[in-house]
Amino acid sequence: MDMNNEMLEQIKKAIAYAMTGNFYGKRFKGINPEDIKSKDDFEKLPFTEKEDLRGAYPLGLLAADEEKVVRIHSSSGTTGTPVIIPYTRKDVEDWALMFCRCYQTAGITSMDRIHITPGYGLWTAGIGFQLGAERLGAMTIPMGPGNTDKQIKMMEDLRSTVLCATSSYALLLAEEIEKRGLREKICLKKGVIGSERWGEKMRRRIAGELGVELYDIYGLTEIYGPGIGISCKYQCGMHMWTDYLYYEIIDPKTGEQAEEGGIGELVITTLQKEGSPLIRYRTHDLTREAGGVCPCGSPYPRIDTLIGRSDDMVKVKGAMIYPGRVDELLGGIQDVSSEYQIQIDHLNGRDIVNLFFETTLTDKADMKALEKTVEAAFKQNIGITPHPVAVGMGELPRSEKKSTRIFDNRY
Ligand SMILES: [Zn+2]
Repeated sequence: MDMNNEMLEQIKKAIAYAMTGNFYGKRFKGINPEDIKSKDDFEKLPFTEKEDLRGAYPLGLLAADEEKVVRIHSSSGTTGTPVIIPYTRKDVEDWALMFCRCYQTAGITSMDRIHITPGYGLWTAGIGFQLGAERLGAMTIPMGPGNTDKQIKMMEDLRSTVLCATSSYALLLAEEIEKRGLREKICLKKGVIGSERWGEKMRRRIAGELGVELYDIYGLTEIYGPGIGISCKYQCGMHMWTDYLYYEIIDPKTGEQAEEGGIGELVITTLQKEGSPLIRYRTHDLTREAGGVCPCGSPYPRIDTLIGRSDDMVKVKGAMIYPGRVDELLGGIQDVSSEYQIQIDHLNGRDIVNLFFETTLTDKADMKALEKTVEAAFKQNIGITPHPVAVGMGELPRSEKKSTRIFDNRY
């Protein structure tokens, strides 16, 4: 994004503050924030990686006096040490304010009833949705994940109007409501779907089966949590709250700024965070600058809906495969559902790409023909020939958490 003088001054202040803490005090030793006079100077600062944050476990990221800390959150590491993020009262309030702004951007008001399915606890999801909704003055229904029967019953009885969920859980609920023939009894109008890359086809299915408008909300525990950006009704990317953060989009391989409008990795600098400020934090989320002015008139710049994770990019025979691209590809083929899974194996000295996808077709010959279509489209768009396998609807695993779609079993 652009860096005007005012932003440069804010960034310098954020860096100077961060350096009063132990983590950046050490990391940026020898750097004088006053020497940063331009965007170029700023871009010479080293990135901060999740691994660096892990190294500061448990409370090494704390930059404020401990008496100011009111809460901690932790990002779930599937492997290794978790990252602990301390929040001051101001951090918690700023987060609530940003999240409230997200709901408002989605046209949600204090008259809505907000059904929250992400988990509560150490991780930031549920509690972020809760804080923002309370700030807005809406009625919240803090369900947390799981127990689909209870979810649907509460949704029906309490006449929830807004569903907050991951895309995979929203899909699971949508399918269940459809299956039980309850759609007429459900009052949902909007869905706020959390920080996960998901394709157009899956969006259409959730929106269609639930009969709702969908909004993408963005965030990560290291930077407050969900709620630092959201899409508006024009669905042309997510507005980012740049009074609280500065973002860059970089080439994940070289670390240089991505070319204008090009796909790259999102890097975030916090401007106001007290508990654990972060400078040039690599999110590993792939996106691109949306550019231009949004018809909604919001002054906040936009990034595209997430395209994938830079660590999910898989290279096979010189071709890059990433989930967003496969979503887009399969989304354009009739009778192919939004659910798929790719398994990459190494057999007899060759890489094999097995592509499983769900289809609404049931006739064996039709399914074979569809496999041929998918194979040709994949070859043409991605540059490699997969081994496609059509399966029936609901045969691939669903999950309440983020779903992984590409499995690289070669190493
Ligand atoms: Zn807009």
